[in-house]
Amino acid sequence: MTSHPLDLILVSTPIGVLGSGRGGGVELTLSSLLKGLVDRGHRVRLIAAEGSQLPHGCESAELLTAEGEDQPSWQHLDGESPVSIPRDGLLPRFLDIALEVGARADAVINFGYDWLPLWITPHLPHQLYHLISMGAVAEVMRDQIEALASWDQQRLAFHTARQASDFCLPHPPRVVGNGFDLARYRFRQEARGPLGWAGRVAPEKGLEDAAAAAAALGEQLLVWGLREDPAYAEAVEASVPSGTLQWRGFLPTADLQEELGRCRALINTPKWNEAYGNVVVEALACGVPVVAYDRGGPGELVQSGETGFLVKPDDIAALTSALRRLPELERAACRAWVERNASQAVFARRVEDWILAGRPTSS
Ligand code: UDP
Repeated sequence: MTSHPLDLILVSTPIGVLGSGRGGGVELTLSSLLKGLVDRGHRVRLIAAEGSQLPHGCESAELLTAEGEDQPSWQHLDGESPVSIPRDGLLPRFLDIALEVGARADAVINFGYDWLPLWITPHLPHQLYHLISMGAVAEVMRDQIEALASWDQQRLAFHTARQASDFCLPHPPRVVGNGFDLARYRFRQEARGPLGWAGRVAPEKGLEDAAAAAAALGEQLLVWGLREDPAYAEAVEASVPSGTLQWRGFLPTADLQEELGRCRALINTPKWNEAYGNVVVEALACGVPVVAYDRGGPGELVQSGETGFLVKPDDIAALTSALRRLPELERAACRAWVERNASQAVFARRVEDWILAGRPTSS
């Protein structure tokens, strides 16, 4: 338990209901942080889209919901796109609630990757903080994140140093990593299973390279995740021999870890500067080594030669060779790394330290 209980408001992504998968990794980040903060004795309120539910074990938290249109996701817009907010947008409705209930809170922590909450921060008396969930995927977002950092960088945290390196910051970044409820992931010793891939099925995730590596080995690739871009999914399927890809759908965490844990390895092949890579750590938590491109968050999370292998980005031959070296690895080392570095408790503690460090000295 903390000796400094804080009054915290968490503001979800204005994309999708929590649990739908449309919010990507932010959904899991939010639910494990909520649980970690509640366990440490903080008062937590969550603002999320109507239809969302509090995760199990967080009954002492309060859920405040709003209805409205999703924001367009920045990673699928042109990098030069202007800011847009749909009519009846969820984003301003979340802000209405956050500004009303958060006036006296110790911190309002925003998890949405959006321009408006960043821009408004210096103009408010509220203690508005932002956990940035992506790299610089749009210029207008880069400018606003850098502008806020110049005003008070303490208001910003990042998941990894690689992600933060996309931005020109006056000080070293505050890196909080991410956290997982490890009781929900079962360690599995068996190392002879299939190859797996997990994530939103969208071009920035690079499924085609993992599929090509599996095909080069004459193996199947099990794929879990939301088919966000169906045309892309079909193009990937057509790029490898029929039957290579086994679509397993988007599963809730309990079922995902059950199936993922049986894999010999997870392949992670991002084409963008992935901010973190939840699925990488979820696989490791089950004892599944990860063979990943040395790019973005996964390049910081995988300990090459110990919990998986990092290879040169976009090099499918290197990926294929690394997959042949899996017997060199100990599955127990994968789980041990997650316990030390990415538990829900470790993550909640880092977020707490971030907020405490930024608190006005007079309070
Ligand atoms: N996920 C899931 N079920 C699936 C496949 C994926 O719940 O069948 C979740 C996974 O647990 C992870 C998220 O989808 O939290 C993907 O997050 P990641 O950080 O890997 O990528 P993002 O979508 O945020 O870019």
